[in-house]
Amino acid sequence: MTVQDAGSITREEALVTVDDVSIGYSEKVAVEKVDLSVQPGEFVSIIGPSGCGKSTSLHLLSGLNEPLRGRVSVRGVDSTGSMGGALKVGYVFQDHRLLPWRTVAQNLDIAMKNAAVPQEEWAQRRSRYLSLLRVADHEGSFPLRLSGGQRQRVSIARAMAVSPDIVLMDEPFSGLDEVTARSIRRELDASRQRQDPATVFVTHSIREALYLSDRVVMLSRGPAHVIKEIVVDIPRPRAYDDETIVDLEKTIVDEVLEQWEDTAVPAPAGGTA
Ligand code: ADP
Repeated sequence: MTVQDAGSITREEALVTVDDVSIGYSEKVAVEKVDLSVQPGEFVSIIGPSGCGKSTSLHLLSGLNEPLRGRVSVRGVDSTGSMGGALKVGYVFQDHRLLPWRTVAQNLDIAMKNAAVPQEEWAQRRSRYLSLLRVADHEGSFPLRLSGGQRQRVSIARAMAVSPDIVLMDEPFSGLDEVTARSIRRELDASRQRQDPATVFVTHSIREALYLSDRVVMLSRGPAHVIKEIVVDIPRPRAYDDETIVDLEKTIVDEVLEQWEDTAVPAPAGGTA
């Protein structure tokens, strides 16, 4: 396990690089200064307190939010202002967003069709990702017949099935009970392979981030700047209660508690990590 200052991670051959980006809504600056790089196949979590700008940062990668300042590059090519379409994205939200009038299989097929995945690959991709998320038996079911956890499993399978460059997950487990969340996290961790799509995972759970990630990027209270990056080099499969993860979680909590508390004095404008 390595704890590094923000900005010291190599950016060579990055899939996507975010440099000194700020993002705003109308008059309000939501993200003050974010630097981030994601390597192909890397699982990166963004953690920070509620409202600090995590989702806003994620939207930057899908082109939903444009930066006020700074630069975004995809495979070394400046894509600032044209992120929509620069990366093929699979999205997982807090709620499953499945089409209720379509079966599980049809939900995946529609997503693959929209993402221009060749039709001859659909069956194989469907089977692979529904099996991986342990919902293959529900291919013919409608989402309303599934539990909340099963719906979210399908939603993750759908995001992976579209052959994305990057999967963006925005607090996908925060609406689930802890036992279900642990079970899905375990599958994600155990199945993780280097050739899988890169993933950027937004959460306010430090433990969840450490358990799932190759690297964790910690944001300050909003408007966010990057405080620190943590490389998690524990081999997979991991244990959720792994001693190193629990110890590191404690250290981080001690370190950021004051910073993250909503009674804390905000960082001065233009302040850095
Ligand atoms: P987080 O994901 O860390 O909880 P968000 O990125 O959702 O935070 O929000 C960051 C800040 O931007 C918050 O103050 C939030 O109120 C504001 N914000 C988010 N979305 C919008 C929007 N569409 N319009 C205006 N303000 C927004």
